[in-house]
Amino acid sequence: MPNLEISAKNELEKLLKGNENFIAGKPTAKNMCLKTLQSLALYQEPYACVLSCSDSRVVPEIIFDCGIGELFVVRVAGITVGPNVKESIEYAVKKLHVPLLILLGHDDCGVMKFASEQYPNIPDDFQSILKCVYPVIDGKGKFDCNNEFARKHTIWVEEYLLNNSKIIKEAVDENKLYIAKCHFDHNTGKVSLL
Ligand SMILES: [Zn+2]
Repeated sequence: MPNLEISAKNELEKLLKGNENFIAGKPTAKNMCLKTLQSLALYQEPYACVLSCSDSRVVPEIIFDCGIGELFVVRVAGITVGPNVKESIEYAVKKLHVPLLILLGHDDCGVMKFASEQYPNIPDDFQSILKCVYPVIDGKGKFDCNNEFARKHTIWVEEYLLNNSKIIKEAVDENKLYIAKCHFDHNTGKVSLL
């Protein structure tokens, strides 16, 4: 039985090294072809789940220098977590046994900017998204910097998942899952651990 915590940390190191490759303009991933896909036609064994924003500039496989079959990616605007998003992550944890969950916030997030403008109003549109972001502002006031807002929100998402998902909480408590909170900087391309 492998030590899952060590496994998760090795996978995290691999992904952060991949991010360095991306920054250096020297990606190494070769497993992006039809042959790779065909070799995985009947199963998948991703080693990490990534919760990322839908933002067109935040593409996990590219910024982590990965190919097909490596990452189970859940993308949603502002990494806002409702029931379907939570259960998608739970599927990766419980059914695919990923040892690593990366929560990937980012700079210049449209959801953070929109929430900063709207708070505390709840307009007719985008209610479920705003309700997943406003708790970060509640009691603390608005943030001067939306990038700092995004970082705080990523921390809030981890708390939300631990408080609202029995599957994720148990996996963390049993050392089967490691959650890495990260932030992506558009100017440098760097993914930093929070
Ligand atoms: Zn975003």
